[in-house]
Amino acid sequence: MAEFVIPPADVVCLPVRDREGQFPVAEIYCVGRNYADHAIEMGHNPDREEPFFFMKPGYAVLSQGGSFKYPGLTSDLHHEVELVVALAGGGENIKVSDAPGLIYGFAVGIDLTRRDIQAEAKKLGRPWDAGKTFLHAAPCSEVIPNPALHTIEQASISLVVNGETRQSGNLNQMIWKVPEIIARLSECFPLQAGDLIFTGTPAGVGPVFAGDELDANIEGIGSLRVTVAN
Ligand code: MN
Repeated sequence: MAEFVIPPADVVCLPVRDREGQFPVAEIYCVGRNYADHAIEMGHNPDREEPFFFMKPGYAVLSQGGSFKYPGLTSDLHHEVELVVALAGGGENIKVSDAPGLIYGFAVGIDLTRRDIQAEAKKLGRPWDAGKTFLHAAPCSEVIPNPALHTIEQASISLVVNGETRQSGNLNQMIWKVPEIIARLSECFPLQAGDLIFTGTPAGVGPVFAGDELDANIEGIGSLRVTVAN
């Protein structure tokens, strides 16, 4: 075993329901505009778009939710509740029919977004990274292992802020389904075991503020509670 010249970064992990072991996170991929009603609310035509992707770093994970500090450089931090896919295997140019066999499980996630920074980046034709990446930009629940894909095809997905429902949708509204997302991602990137995929958000995204309490829920998967620290 080679020695390191500096200590290596910690492996980011998520707990797994009813298992002793942890799920080690590799890369974090995210799908943009994967629900028609959200694409429309952001000013886009959902019919004509291929899926597109962006990434978040490991330090974005806020495991099992909890409290996070409102990030700097923004006054318009938005919530996006999303189904998260956890991969047990990867590869390149994966067939849609092979994709379900690579899924370890699912989780509930929130793609926190500095909307004002993202909007400026869009306007200037710059990368989205600073809008999507900051400490704890990806709160994520425990991983639920091995649920059959068909059991969540009609699952409701919602996000409640301070007791008020902001986002309410159904996974059957996804434009690109989970196996299609995995297949397409694997044409762009070398997928590997441990990858997380945030699969897009339904309509109703909006701002959160210090002191807010967010409750994300996906039927048959679980829930995630996140508090914005004061
Ligand atoms: Mn998103």
